[in-house]
Amino acid sequence: MPSVKEIINLTGGVNKKEEELIVKAYKFGESAHTGQKRMSGEPYFIHAFGTAKILAQLGMDAQTIAAGLLHDVLEDTKIKEEEIENKFGQNILFLIKGVTKLGTLKYRGHERHVESLRKFFVAMANDLRVVIIKFADRLHNLQTLQYVREDKRKRIAIESIEVYAPLANRLGMGKLKGELEDAAFPYAYPKESAQVEEIIKEKKDLYQKNLSDIQKELKKELEKNNIRVVEINSRMKHKYSLWKKLVKRQMDIEKIYDIVALRVVVENIEECYRVLGIIHSIWRPLPGRIKDYIAVPKPNNYRSIHTTIFTGSGGIAEIQIRTKEMHAEAAYGIAAHFAYKENGNEEMENNKLKFKWIEELKNLHHYEGEPKNFIKHLKMDFFNDRIFIFTPKGDVVDLPEDSSPIDFAYSIHSDIGDHISGVKINSKMSYIFSKLKNGDIVEITKKKDAHPSSKWLEYVKTTIAKKHIKSYLEKNSLLSRLKSFGRS
Ligand code: MN
Repeated sequence: MPSVKEIINLTGGVNKKEEELIVKAYKFGESAHTGQKRMSGEPYFIHAFGTAKILAQLGMDAQTIAAGLLHDVLEDTKIKEEEIENKFGQNILFLIKGVTKLGTLKYRGHERHVESLRKFFVAMANDLRVVIIKFADRLHNLQTLQYVREDKRKRIAIESIEVYAPLANRLGMGKLKGELEDAAFPYAYPKESAQVEEIIKEKKDLYQKNLSDIQKELKKELEKNNIRVVEINSRMKHKYSLWKKLVKRQMDIEKIYDIVALRVVVENIEECYRVLGIIHSIWRPLPGRIKDYIAVPKPNNYRSIHTTIFTGSGGIAEIQIRTKEMHAEAAYGIAAHFAYKENGNEEMENNKLKFKWIEELKNLHHYEGEPKNFIKHLKMDFFNDRIFIFTPKGDVVDLPEDSSPIDFAYSIHSDIGDHISGVKINSKMSYIFSKLKNGDIVEITKKKDAHPSSKWLEYVKTTIAKKHIKSYLEKNSLLSRLKSFGRS
């Protein structure tokens, strides 16, 4: 049997009370699952233990780790809710019940898929920790998937790639997303996965040799310039995301520049830009490949500066520059915020605000009608590529690709959307039905007597714009019907 010490050590420090809670949950879970076995023949509790370990690695709080140790107790043992509540309190019972509920739906085709997404969003809006426990539970199941029946195996693997990984990504949990995808990849798409393995095997040494030369030179240069380097290391691109990129680039590995990338972690933002300057003074950057996600973070709050350089002798390498804080956030995303345990609840409220899209998703679940519509809107709004549009004052609005100035206007305020009379894009008068491009500066002009028409619906991408236009049109037609009724 594993030891609870392993979990405690992974937490990076818990106080006495927290440690007691984890130990108590460990003992309770172990005894509750006594006699049960996994498909692998191991004691069942190994799974709960593995889940809790992943949560500890993510830096989750003691309550979440305890709930991880107990997450299958309600479903798979005779233990009753009251007993959990008496021994561990309301919060932990809530987390376990949330995880149990999420688990009852399996991926069995499209409709069910939608239904399980819907459940995720409701759970997420209630307490994000439920979803994070579910992620850890799934990751551990993927790691022991070889023991599961083949048809079931494939279903679980595809579900992980289609449902779990995109959500982890949306929560900024890049490390977990990559781990989920890579654990699922060989079972979901065995042929493709083998192909990627082959390509990597062939190229890996070459790339790493190239990178370690650059690393040495860069380190020397940064020291000379008195930059306080926290760490420089290289990372290999996750296999599943490499495969996706290969497909996009006609399977041409030479067109992918970030198979391995160098990561420079420094103390503060100012140093990030100094490092960028130093890199460009040594190596020539590839035009169009400098990405400043510090000034303009990705929609999932990812921040870093990326640049791709010519390394001489025909080589190309990507370098990512970030602060310590950004480094933790890029790996753990929203989970990074749970590290501040003292102000747990307050912190969580802030996160809810920060991740505005979670609130939007919650509202979407009231979306009337068909599950099909729900997924359509969902995909449209949250999983597509996003563009960043600026107000003349420099505020950033993030929108789905191909959005129009109408989408932009409604995402600022419904009153602006309802009275658009014209638009300037990058200071030029433009058509309100134009497609916006990443980085455009958009200025809307309003008029009291300007109003939406049904034609607008053909030129909007966001749910919020559609909703407001439709509600305006409905109100208006009702009004005119009432008027004509009065006249007759
Ligand atoms: Mn489980």
